[in-house]
Parts: sequence; structure tokens; C-alpha cells
Amino acid sequence: MTATDDPLGGVRPGGRRSWWLREVLAAEAPHLGSDVATPPLAGETTADIAILGGGYTGLWTAIRLSELAPGARIVVVERDICGGGPSGRNGGFVTGWWDELPPLIKRFGESEAVRCALALDAAIDELGAFVAANDIDASWERRGFMQVSAAPAQDAAWSAAAAACAQLGFGDRWYGLSAGDVAARAKSPVFRDGAFMPGAGTIQPAALARGLRRVALERGVVIHERTTVERFDPRLVKTSSADGPGVIVADQIVVALNAWAARWPTFGRRLVTWSSYIVLTEPIPDLLADIGWTGGEGIADARFTLHYARTTPDGRIALGGGGGRAGFGGRIGRAFSHDAGSARRAADGLRRWFPSLAGVRIEDAWGGPIDITDDHRPWFGTLPGGRIHFGLGYSGNGVAPAVLGGRILAALALGRHDDEAASLPIVGAAPRAFPPEPFRYLGARAIREAIVRREQAEESGRRPNPIALAVSRLPKRLGYHLGPD
Ligand SMILES: Cc1cc2nc3c(=O)[nH]c(=O)nc-3n(C[C@H](O)[C@H](O)[C@H](O)COP(=O)(O)OP(=O)(O)OC[C@H]3O[C@@H](n4cnc5c(N)ncnc54)[C@H](O)[C@@H]3O)c2cc1C
Repeated sequence: MTATDDPLGGVRPGGRRSWWLREVLAAEAPHLGSDVATPPLAGETTADIAILGGGYTGLWTAIRLSELAPGARIVVVERDICGGGPSGRNGGFVTGWWDELPPLIKRFGESEAVRCALALDAAIDELGAFVAANDIDASWERRGFMQVSAAPAQDAAWSAAAAACAQLGFGDRWYGLSAGDVAARAKSPVFRDGAFMPGAGTIQPAALARGLRRVALERGVVIHERTTVERFDPRLVKTSSADGPGVIVADQIVVALNAWAARWPTFGRRLVTWSSYIVLTEPIPDLLADIGWTGGEGIADARFTLHYARTTPDGRIALGGGGGRAGFGGRIGRAFSHDAGSARRAADGLRRWFPSLAGVRIEDAWGGPIDITDDHRPWFGTLPGGRIHFGLGYSGNGVAPAVLGGRILAALALGRHDDEAASLPIVGAAPRAFPPEPFRYLGARAIREAIVRREQAEESGRRPNPIALAVSRLPKRLGYHLGPD
């Protein structure tokens, strides 16, 4: 492949932190030229509540605990630095669950599904109020989320959810757009009709993660970065770091390890780990104006291996593609961060949406793991014994749900089971298990190939190969709310 037909223009994912995190770390400590990290744990310490993982889930939990139990000793351990994982690398879409209403209704019934969707809207309100109150400069903008059809096979993908919203009296939360409405927000030769969620927004994801870390530290939360959890049981967390082994003797433990939790069999059987990649263009404010995409809304298509894109305050586009790869046995290896093929597919998606940007330089590309459950909803709960609580399985939509997750996990760790958030049906009900390895990995890989082929054929107006079509439908046929019909 020559430099000219490489849509990444020579940029390769992996090897450095996401653009978002580099930007915020440079602002935090310009003189350091390296990451600011709290001291690792070495030796023994105690905690009322030990939190494993320093992404959004762990940090929101720590902050809620500092409010609900002032004086409690809260200790967070993070293998990297806070925000080093997907919380500092994601697309920054902050979206509700109205577009997921039919599967939520199928699982929990109408009133509980609506309660979940309203709780997530409240979490988005809370996120905005929190960043404002704590001077977190994270470019939070509530400009909505638009789903578009980018091929005939995607037309009206949202109609069941929009109809359910309208029928239940929430027709203003997720509603259809005509092709003209879509074009008024962003002109693309492949966009058709779409749907809109006005309550959604975008944020600079790493600035949010680092802002949460700052607030947690200000409130007396102890954070040990560059400290890896090796084992945990209901009383004890064993860690390692460059300074040696560590132990936390804890009364309660919160597991906030996201995709990394899949390494532990209790969680791993109910998760498929998957990579997702983002590409970032150079600043192109004039070209954005030509496209008419100046409203700041996030946009996604209706593929299963969806493309999602948003603009940045300096006029760039960050576009992600869900067409990454499945992981094996819960291991999060280099394929989750160094896979140029997946990043290239994201860049191809950008050029398909906006051919007028073909000459635009890609300045960065990065990837990370997402943890998918059988019906795309997160899973919170407490393990038998009552001391270990967990929140994971965000399935690629975790920015807003982690706010709710922090409330849920803080309540569970304090034994407040009557708490409104902890009584949501996403707490406790385990997602369906996936087949054991190696079948899970081999199945996910084969199905992913089939879905990518099918969706590529549909986008180019070709009839999908019948075998690819049949295999792509397997997850739904087997009762998982994953993959196309
Ligand atoms: C490329 C990409 C794009 C995404 N885009 C969006 C989006 O636009 N909108 C959205 O809502 N969601 C998006 N997501 C998903 C979202 O980023 C996550 O759901 C969310 O960040 C989850 O937060 P978390 O705290 O649970 O996990 P994480 O941020 O992954 O935090 C878990 C932490 O645990 C640490 N850890 C792992 N193992 C250990 C160990 N053994 N010991 C100690 N620490 C450990 C990790 O280093 C990590 O920091 C995206 C994800 C990816 C990868």
C-alpha cells in the first residue's frame, strides 16, 4: 500500500495516548512533559471501600461515596493513570437510552424501561451540572444526537423506538427526521432520513476523566495510579507496581474494570470484548461549514458495526467505527490499540459519508476495548457474600451510564438497597451468558466478518452474499439482542 492510497495517511494507532488525553495532560502540567501520576501502592493499606479501576465508573463511584459517607476511607487503584483506558479515549457522545427503548421494554416491561431511560436523562443533567460546578473544562455541549440512514437497508432503523417513545408520551426525546431535516444538519450524498435525540450532547472525554480525578482527590479520595490489581477476594485486594506488591484490606470492594473484568470468569462469560477505533482529522472548520455541519450534534449511522462522528471546538471531526475485532478469553492485547486495519475502516467510513473530505489529513488514530453484553445494557450488581460490587458491560455507551453507575455502586457499597438508582432493573439481572471459549471468540469472529461483509454490500447497493446474510442473523436467531435482523 502506498502513502497515497492509505486513508490513514501514514498515521498508525497505538504507541501514544489518545489525542484527547494528550491535550488534557499537556494543559494539566505543561512543564512535566510526561503523565502526572499519584504514587503507586506498595505495602499494606486499609480501606472502607476499595475501588478497582480509575475510569468514569470508579471515579464517579468514589465521588458519590465522598458525598454519602464523608469520612470513609476510599482507595482507588488504577493500572495506568486515571483516564488511560476508554474513559480518556472514547468518542465523547453522551447519549440517553430512548433509542434502545424496545429492547429495554422487552426485558423489563414498559414502566421500568421508561424509569431507566428517565434515570439516564437525569444522569446527563447531572453530568452537565457537575462539570459546571467543579470548573471542569470539558467542552460539554448539549446539541443533540442524530442517527442517520446511510444506505437503504438502514432506513427507519429507529422507527420502532420512536414509535414506542411517542406511544408512552416521550415523543420529544427521540423522533424521526426527514431526509431534508437530516441534510439541514449535515449534507452527505449517502445520508437519507434519520432520527434525533435532543437531550444528548458531546464532551471532551479525557477532560471529564481527569476532572473527575481532580475532584476525587480534592475530596480526600486516595488514588494509587500505576498499580495493577492482580487478585481480589471479599476482603483483600492484591496489587503490583514498580514499587513492589501491595495489599488493601477492604470492607467493601467495587470492581470498575470495564473490559478488563472479562479476565475474571464470573464476568467474562457474560461479556464479549471488542475493539473500537477512532480517527481524527486536522482542523477543517471551513469544510464543516460547506457540509453545513456546524450545529455540534453527534451523528451515527444505523449499521450494527456503526460509524459515529462528532466535531471538536477547533473544527475537527472525530469518527469512530465499531467494526473492530473480538478479543479472546478476556485478554486485552495489542489488537485493541494497535490495529491499523480497524482504524482504516473508520477512515474509509468518514470518506464514504463525506467524499468532499477525501483530501483531508488524518492526524491521529487510536483504539480501545468495549465490553458487550447480550442486550447492550450495562450490568451492575453484588457478588454472593455481599462485599464485592461491580458495574460493567456498557457495550460502547458508557459516558452517561457511568454517572448512573457511580450512584448505583456507591449505594450498593453502603448497603442502601432502597436507593432509587440501586433499585433500577439494570441492577442484579445478569445478562445472558455467551458460549465458553474458544467458541465465543470463534463465533464472534465469524459473525463479525459476516456482518461487515453484509453491511459493506448493502452500502454499495449490492445484494449480500446469502451465507454472510444468514450468519449475520445468527445472534438474533439465538436470542441475543446483537447484530442485524
Ligand atoms: C474507541 C471507543 C469509543 C467510545 N465512544 C463512546 C462514546 O462516544 N460514548 C459513550 O458513551 N461511550 C463510548 N465508549 C465506551 C466508554 O468509553 C466506556 O463505556 C466507559 O469509558 C467505561 O468507563 P469505565 O470506567 O467503566 O471503564 P474504563 O475507562 O475502561 O476504566 C477501567 C480502568 O481499569 C483499569 N484497569 C484495567 N485492569 C486493571 C487492573 N488489573 N488493575 C487496576 N486497574 C485496571 C484500566 O486501565 C482503566 O483505566 C467508547 C469506547 C471506546 C473504546
